[in-house]
Amino acid sequence: MSTADVVIIGGGVNGTSTAFHLASLGAKRVTLVERRHLAAGATGKSGALVRMHYTNEPEARLAWESLQVFREFRTIVGGECGFEPMGFLALVPRGHEAALGRNVERLRRIGVETRVVARDELRAIFPEAALDDVGAAAYEPGSGYADPNATAYAFAAAARRLGVTIETGREATRIVTDRDRVVGVETDRGRIDTRTVVLAPGAWGATLLRPLGLDFGLVPHRVQVTIFRWPDGFTRRHVVVIDFGHMAWFRPEGTNATLIGLELGVGHEDPDHFHEGVDEDYVARCKATLAARVPVFGASTMRGGWAGMIMMSPDGRPIIDQVPSVGGLYVMLGDSGTSFKTSPAIGRCLAEWIVHGKPRTVDLTPFRSTRFAEGQPWVDADGYGGEHLTVSR
Ligand SMILES: Cc1cc2nc3c(=O)[nH]c(=O)nc-3n(C[C@H](O)[C@H](O)[C@H](O)COP(=O)(O)OP(=O)(O)OC[C@H]3O[C@@H](n4cnc5c(N)ncnc54)[C@H](O)[C@@H]3O)c2cc1C
Repeated sequence: MSTADVVIIGGGVNGTSTAFHLASLGAKRVTLVERRHLAAGATGKSGALVRMHYTNEPEARLAWESLQVFREFRTIVGGECGFEPMGFLALVPRGHEAALGRNVERLRRIGVETRVVARDELRAIFPEAALDDVGAAAYEPGSGYADPNATAYAFAAAARRLGVTIETGREATRIVTDRDRVVGVETDRGRIDTRTVVLAPGAWGATLLRPLGLDFGLVPHRVQVTIFRWPDGFTRRHVVVIDFGHMAWFRPEGTNATLIGLELGVGHEDPDHFHEGVDEDYVARCKATLAARVPVFGASTMRGGWAGMIMMSPDGRPIIDQVPSVGGLYVMLGDSGTSFKTSPAIGRCLAEWIVHGKPRTVDLTPFRSTRFAEGQPWVDADGYGGEHLTVSR
């Protein structure tokens, strides 16, 4: 048996970010356990878009705080996160112009560098794209994408340098409580006594939550992406795009390819037995969707693809909380496919909560676990109509 002041369960980007931020704030005796290897879950498969365009303020604040970390990663964390500030476009179909305008205003009020762009400027930003069906577009010149594996490994390396113990190949099998408070974590390699647990298990949380009587209605969901080699004549690394009209998102991959994901609705899949490759019909749909927006991609070549598991919450927003019914239990659950870009701020907020007694960087009240039981699931006033959107919500 061993002891720790804090045990973090899960070595994805949210677990490793929390580990780094805890150690940065002076927490001692922090142990992270990861049942496989770092970034073995959604993180290692992430599209890793880093954009601020959300249709609500709390998530945008997390993204905005996180962007400062991606920009200055070498100084703040150390190592590389692979951030590529290619610029970002949100394209919405006709009928959503006013909502886009209100979302941009909301983002600007919190400091995000973004604006609604007129058609001429839009054409200049993405000259290869067919844009006639677009109702309105918002542009973020400083956003882009990062390398999700590099980010998680760099957070972990920095945490280790600050004294955190990171144990891969070690699975948490039970969170032990006594009179409704955490007293330890059982693992496949013995028990760790602790009074504070951060649970960041991605799509694999059910077996630890159920014995605690916690059911937040989480659904593990498989998400695919495909990469297409640029066709002859296409040589420019383009902006990152969320195409709400086509329910798709895409970004450059390396120096000669584009990575695309489509929104297909949400269905339950077993996170321990899922097909990690990409479905053939999905590839065809991706190519058709990409070509509908950027016609030269009709001649592109499929270069590969994969599938990963995310965990959807009932309202598609993460649950980031100190669970009121279990003292000492902090959770980052229901990532809903959008929690790479926000991971620096999520980790910092959880660390602040544990070390200072409350989160200071962003108010996490909207992310509370009790919102479903309260009958107050999250609904954005200015959404673009895609209730089942995951990565590109
Ligand atoms: C294809 C795809 C594209 C995406 N694109 C984007 C995007 O463009 N932008 C964006 O912001 N987000 C995106 N996401 C979502 C983003 O990747 C996730 O929200 C984020 O990586 C979640 O990180 P996490 O640390 O919370 O969970 P995970 O990365 O899933 O990590 C959880 C870890 O916990 C470990 N674990 C689970 N149970 C236990 C246990 N009992 N004991 C020990 N370890 C355990 C797992 O092995 C895993 O390594 C995408 C996701 C996918 C799959």
